[in-house]
Amino acid sequence: MIEMQDVTKKYPNKTTAVRGISIHISQGEFVYVVGPSGSGKSTFIKLMYREEKATSGQKLEVARHDLLKIKNKEVPYLRRDVGVVFQDFKLLPRKTVYENIAYAMQVIGRKPREIKKRVMEVLDLVGLKHKVRVFPSELSGGEQQRVSIARAIVNTPKVLIADEPTGNLDPETSWEIMHLLERINNQGTTVVMATHNKTIVDTMRHRLIAIENGLIVRDEAEGEYEFDD
Ligand code: ADP
Ligand code: ADP
Repeated sequence: MIEMQDVTKKYPNKTTAVRGISIHISQGEFVYVVGPSGSGKSTFIKLMYREEKATSGQKLEVARHDLLKIKNKEVPYLRRDVGVVFQDFKLLPRKTVYENIAYAMQVIGRKPREIKKRVMEVLDLVGLKHKVRVFPSELSGGEQQRVSIARAIVNTPKVLIADEPTGNLDPETSWEIMHLLERINNQGTTVVMATHNKTIVDTMRHRLIAIENGLIVRDEAEGEYEFDD
């Protein structure tokens, strides 16, 4: 589902954030990406949804898209297959919960009836059907994250990328979000999640990729967090 061979990302300021990384992530896997601040986690996952372009590499494929060759105008097709969730939710403040989620389907030309049915379906999955008409500012942090997850999966992506999805949430709410991500993973979606949350990583065990200084230093089936931050 995700394949990298010797992928490097050097920013224009000459910082090399990812140094010749190779990985293979299969369909249906749940993978944590951990490492100290500034180690290259965000850059590594941004390469997967083409938020950043690789500087060089032998191969960079995600959900059958060749990200070394993809043109800017083809990126929307990639984004149908790769949903993204952020630490700060990134919901549109002037749109309701319904509109925030529906928008992702509107931009790819789905029919209004189809959109309505699917939006209610994903809102049901995240347990927020009763909040369909409210604005993001009227929701708690955990609820906003659930809306952002609903938006990320509304087009049934093959891969869900999450960049510190529990970073702004209290422990109890973080667990709710983790159970939701696990449920989505159990339905067949590949999940890649960058995190600093030692408790979650050590409790809900999954494959763990540890990055330091732009390099993969560990890749373990059910690894522990092991960093001191
Ligand atoms: P992490 O997510 O592990 O904190 P990042 O991928 O954000 O790491 O950063 C890795 C390195 O790349 C850091 O040295 C950071 O300062 C640098 N970096 C990140 N984004 C940019 C950018 N847009 N331009 C220049 N340097 C960047
Ligand atoms: P928690 O602390 O459990 O994350 P909050 O105390 O922020 O959640 O919110 C509890 C409930 O109150 C939620 O259902 C949320 O939707 C609602 N709520 C929070 N802030 C507002 C607001 N400004 N306007 C309307 N409802 C709100």
